[in-house]
Amino acid sequence: MQFKTIIEPFRIKTVEPIRQTTPAQRAAAIRGAHYNVFQLRAGDVLIDLLTDSGTGAMSIYQWAGMMRGDESYAGARSFYTFQSVVQEITGFKHVIPTHQGRAAEHILSQAMVTDGKVVPNNTHFDTTRANIEARHGVALDVPIHEGHEPATLHPFKGNMDLEALARVLEERRGQIPMVMITVTNNSEGGQPVSMANIRGASALCRQHGVPFIIDACRFAENAWFIKQREPGYGDKTPLEIAQEMFRLADGCTMSAKKDGMANIGGFLAMNDDALALKCRNALVVTEGFPTYGGLAGYDLEAIAVGLKEALDEDYLRYRIRTVEYLSERMTAAGIPTVRPAGGHALYLDAKSWLSHLPQEQYPGWALSLALYVTGGIRACEIGSVMFGLQPDGTEKPASLELVRLAFPRRVYTQSHMDYVCEVLLYLNTVVKKIHGVRITEQPPVLRHFTAKFEPVGGVIVEA
Ligand SMILES: *Cc1c(COP(=O)(O)O)cnc(C)c1O
Repeated sequence: MQFKTIIEPFRIKTVEPIRQTTPAQRAAAIRGAHYNVFQLRAGDVLIDLLTDSGTGAMSIYQWAGMMRGDESYAGARSFYTFQSVVQEITGFKHVIPTHQGRAAEHILSQAMVTDGKVVPNNTHFDTTRANIEARHGVALDVPIHEGHEPATLHPFKGNMDLEALARVLEERRGQIPMVMITVTNNSEGGQPVSMANIRGASALCRQHGVPFIIDACRFAENAWFIKQREPGYGDKTPLEIAQEMFRLADGCTMSAKKDGMANIGGFLAMNDDALALKCRNALVVTEGFPTYGGLAGYDLEAIAVGLKEALDEDYLRYRIRTVEYLSERMTAAGIPTVRPAGGHALYLDAKSWLSHLPQEQYPGWALSLALYVTGGIRACEIGSVMFGLQPDGTEKPASLELVRLAFPRRVYTQSHMDYVCEVLLYLNTVVKKIHGVRITEQPPVLRHFTAKFEPVGGVIVEA
């Protein structure tokens, strides 16, 4: 008998109260935040789906590990515990802790990227792109075309376009210091990458003698998708699948705020001795000594335990199924989303759902405000507010207007998800009454964090 109810594979020992608010209180809070959910106080949010980064709940084993933290400056026991877990999973010889993922990217870019060099990736995450561009390199995205099409179903929509990769390796010979692959592909909706695709990219890199680096932030979720969807992997454990992924690469960058199940941390790992030496030398200047890399000993312990817990099958089944469940409910109600569901988030397609709003009125942003005032849910626009402002100050609408509901790990329960569903189904009945927004004040870069807005006509959702 296969029961269908999704149960959280844990019981709750410590609780953090969340506060119910009235629509009037939320309307006042969002007005005070200049209609920008990034400017809200978290205490005014009921269900916070802004990001899955660093927002997870730690287990009793992680907290126990924190008590074991060895805070020695050099050679702490916690470092060796951390190193052995990372080596067991990745197989890489050198393990370099960093305070989070972007610090690993920064150090790697400093060591590998110079003026005009090209780094292909299925899709660069924004911090990866920024670190490569800060070195005057070119961050080149080569995703498969299905990755850009919200409604097109594909089991591995995060894949890299291997023909495009082969072409660029040929055409830009000598100008490519490394190739990266992001698993899961965060910027394309948390979509997975198949083992066949990783193997293909790896083979091309080896043929050209170019290092192949995995952006491994969601390696465990990616392993679960491979187990579920790729022929030949159904009987393998997520750990075995992850080990196979890493064997195909020469190194990785990692944010432990994702599949490290920790609130802070990251690492860089690789096989190349000379590169590791260069990276450790840079680490000492900006992060710290190589056996702590900007982290406390207790953080290293929490990550060491968390990396293994992220590979637990019951956990992965619950996590991925939760997102899929929400996605199924949306599809049944005719609410457009990016399909199939990704690993860490559900993406609402605001351009089709709020088709009454022109892109100049930022339909994704408008939807994020409606979600908050209606249900106290905080989500993140990934559309023209985030990407529309060009470096020369002009506006160019983004190709997609998405709203991301990202799921913190082990934090919310099935009833929280049912509540989110209920709010979304209600919004579907009033969707044409959601007003657009205009920007009243904005900074020149990364405007979504601090820009000020006002709803067109003065209300977010018409009564
Ligand atoms: C979060 C993330 C990063 C950066 O990690 P931080 O810990 O936030 O610095 C890099 N790549 C991907 C795919 C990510 O999701």
